This record gives sequence, structure tokens and C-alpha cells, in this order.
Amino acid sequence: MVETEAPIKEVIEEIKESGGDAVKFCYQCGKCDTICPWNRVGTFSMRKLIREAAFGLTEIEREEIWRCTGCGECTRRCPRDVKQIQDTVALRRMATGYGVFPAAVKPVRAASAGLTAEGNPFGEERAIRAEWAKGLPVKTFAEEMEILYFPGCYLSYDPRLKKVAAATAGILSQAGVDFGILGARENCCGESIRKTGNEALFKSLARENIKTFIENGVKKILVSSPHCYHTFKNEYTEFKTHFEVAHISQYIFELINEGKLKLSKEYGKKVTYHDPCYLGRHNGIYDEPRGILKKIPGLELIEMDRSREDSLCCGMGGGRIWMETPVSERFSNLRLEEAIGAGSEVLVTSCPYCVTNFEDGRVVLNYDDAIQIKDITEVLLEVI
Ligand code: SF4
Repeated sequence: MVETEAPIKEVIEEIKESGGDAVKFCYQCGKCDTICPWNRVGTFSMRKLIREAAFGLTEIEREEIWRCTGCGECTRRCPRDVKQIQDTVALRRMATGYGVFPAAVKPVRAASAGLTAEGNPFGEERAIRAEWAKGLPVKTFAEEMEILYFPGCYLSYDPRLKKVAAATAGILSQAGVDFGILGARENCCGESIRKTGNEALFKSLARENIKTFIENGVKKILVSSPHCYHTFKNEYTEFKTHFEVAHISQYIFELINEGKLKLSKEYGKKVTYHDPCYLGRHNGIYDEPRGILKKIPGLELIEMDRSREDSLCCGMGGGRIWMETPVSERFSNLRLEEAIGAGSEVLVTSCPYCVTNFEDGRVVLNYDDAIQIKDITEVLLEVI
């Protein structure tokens, strides 16, 4: 039998090593529980998790340590600056070390196996990573190019998200951007698997990517996923590297402002924009996507009650994308209802996890006719 009640010292040391600080600061006010989206679909107490960890009382086989989606809402509201995300990841690192995974978390092991063997969590062949670009004006990256476009795993392999990669390539080529892709030499950025506690696999993926970037003379990386953005910008720096990183919404907004993209067609629809957690709360990118939408002729931009810093998480950050979530506990379904309630015909976002979850919600909730889900590049491609 596996001993799953970790020794007090081990819990505390692991938390300290990951930059967490539950032991020192939390004073149990419960503000994290008030704001946590889990408490809109069920019950979960970050306060309790932090208290147990602070006293080394965490039982790491419990499902609760896998709940946090890393949305950053509690971090923003916490009066004591407790690092809840780092603390949670530290507990998951211990569980991963012991090989203890509750049933809903077991799919993480398949994602890890795919990442180890093929550099992507789906276990798809590395050799077909660039198939999405077949027949499109996309070149292999060369040192003299201005931009490395890094589509990431979902846009490379998922049939729905491949359309977003194609839309992005179409926009960049219309704007005359000199860009290329790494294709089979691209690895997952590693952000989500790190959040599941698999630090060794994250480091291995990051090192391989960094080596490839350096060997190929990469200076500026353009990404579609806020998760790639976050990890390249804020976590790869742990390896003493600094690459210029831009999210596609920032870059397109610049292209429009520089007059390199002309928005010539009307998009006569009511649109609302969903702020992905890792673009908005974690990295402060709120204005550029809205800036793009506001420039589109005929488009009516509606804000949901919870927008910008108050955006509701789709539920799939923090590595939750590789875990199972019952339909009744999916935050993305609440968000779809908020978007429809606000009167929008199209829910636009700029994150592959959000698109995946909202598309899934449309099917599960039978909202096919009520609302469309679009990545911002797909809307833009229709009007240039
Ligand atoms: Fe502790 Fe911060 Fe939660 Fe208050 S909001 S209970 S200080 S973690």
C-alpha cells in the first residue's frame, strides 16, 4: 500500500521549493473560497487546503489537490499574497512523485506519455505536427525570418483548432509578415503538464524547445495560446533565456494600427469577448483583443458582467484540460449561459482550451443554434 500522508517536513519543503508560502502567511479569512468558481458548481475550499498544507496535514490521495484551475482569482483577492497556485502545484508534485492519481486525474498519465514520446499530449506522431499547414502559405522557419510562429499542440493536431492555425497563417501572409514554423522540431511548451506536478517533464520539454530556438536563431516568438505565452514569457526565464514573445491578439492589433491589414468587410453580429485567464488575469492583456474587435465594421461588441479581471475561468487551466470534469461541474457551461444571456450571437476568445470547452458546451447543452464560438483570428479572417 502506498503511504499517502506525506510527512509534515516534506509538504512544507515542497511548497517552499515551488515558491509557495502557505506556511508563513495565510490567516484563514476565506476570501479565496468566496471567489473560487468551484463554489458556483459545487464545493471546494482553498482556505482549507492551504491550512492543511501549512500544518503538513495534506493527504495527497485526495481529489481536492487537483481542483485548482490556476485561474488566479483567489491570488488577486488574497489579502496576504498567498501563492495558492504554487502551493497547489507543490502538492501535485508530491502526488506525482508517489504515483497517486484519483480516477478523474488518471488521463494525465496518458498526456505525459504522449509528451515524453512525441512531444505532444495527444500522443500523435511528431512527424505530422505541421500537417495543418499543408497547402497554406507557410514556410519552415529560417534564421533570417522576423517571426517564429509557434501554434502549440492543440492548433497542430486538433481538427477544430487547426482552423485557427490556418486563419492565423492566412492573416500573417495577407499582412506580408515574414514568418515560419518549426513543424516536427516544435515541442509542447510544457505549461499545462507542469501544473499537474510533472516538473521533470516540463523541464525536459522546455530545455528541448530552448535548444531548438537557439540553434535556429529565433528572436521573436508569436503564439496563439495564452498558456504558451505565459510559460515562454514568465517561466522559460528560469532557464536564463529571454525571447521576445507576442500573443497573436497583440501582434494583429499592431498590424492593423500600422495599416498592414485592411478590414474591408462587415461583420454584422453581436459579439462578446471572453478573457482567457492566462492572457488576462495572469498577463494583463485585455485591451488588444477588444481593440481588434472594435475596429471591425458592423461588429457590435457586448461586454458580459464578468469581464476583464473578473472573467470567469473556462475551467481547463492548471492542467485540468487533461483531467475529467463532470458536465455539471464545467465552468465553461456557466460562461456560455452568461454569453447568451448578454445577448451575443458569437462568443469570441483567444485560447485553444477555451475554444475547446465552449464548443463542447454547445453540444452538451444543445446550444448549437444559440451561439457560435470563434477564435479572434477566425473572425478577423472573415473581414480582411
Ligand atoms: Fe488564506 Fe489568502 Fe485564502 Fe485568506 S484569501 S484564507 S489569507 S489563502
